[in-house]
Amino acid sequence: MLRLSAALAVSSALALVPAGAALAQKGPGPAAAPAPAPTAGDASGKPGVGVTPGASSSTSAGELDAHTVVTAIVQGLQEIHAGQNVPTIIWPTNYGAMSGCGPLPSSAYCPSNHTVYIAQEDAQHSYRFGDAALAYVVAHEYAHAMQTAFGVYNADVRSTELEADCLAGFYLASIPNVTFDDSDIYEIRDMALSIGDYDFMHPNHHGTPDQRVNAVLDGMRNQIGGADWQSCTANY
Ligand SMILES: [Zn+2]
Repeated sequence: MLRLSAALAVSSALALVPAGAALAQKGPGPAAAPAPAPTAGDASGKPGVGVTPGASSSTSAGELDAHTVVTAIVQGLQEIHAGQNVPTIIWPTNYGAMSGCGPLPSSAYCPSNHTVYIAQEDAQHSYRFGDAALAYVVAHEYAHAMQTAFGVYNADVRSTELEADCLAGFYLASIPNVTFDDSDIYEIRDMALSIGDYDFMHPNHHGTPDQRVNAVLDGMRNQIGGADWQSCTANY
């Protein structure tokens, strides 16, 4: 289960998951990004967060509810990027709701209005695994916003999606205000497995389950190994 915290916990579970490369380094890793946090009253744009009730009322004991997860992860990601390029967050919303890029097929990032949309359906799916699975969804969509803001996306959908997964892993390993335990790593792994696809011929192919798991774990390892967040852009 996730815990709100000022400290970063590095999970030994990373060493247990079957994902190719070994950890470059175990242990506490570098300190969380020292970037100055945006103030609570920062007006640069987080209107969807902090005003609406959570989507999930069926979380198991100790799990953070969906509203807390979305709010905390967004806040932490803003801190990682020192309050730069902050996207608007719309939460909760639903599949089919109109976004700046048309009806939402799922949670998504829309570049034309620099807005991240987090759908209740995805939150509910996440809680089949746990609160960390939702944290991964939020981090993945936020990563798309940063790909656009920093111009690091790829030409094809699959590479861009796997890069966003890698960035999500990097973010979750470095987020300054949320602590992860071993079970959270498995929740993220299981969520990534559940959303991978084998639609190789489909233009919206996001990557196979194994590719998605490996990408998010690569991002975690990159962070623990001391790499910077753009390390994901070199590999995907
Ligand atoms: Zn995506």
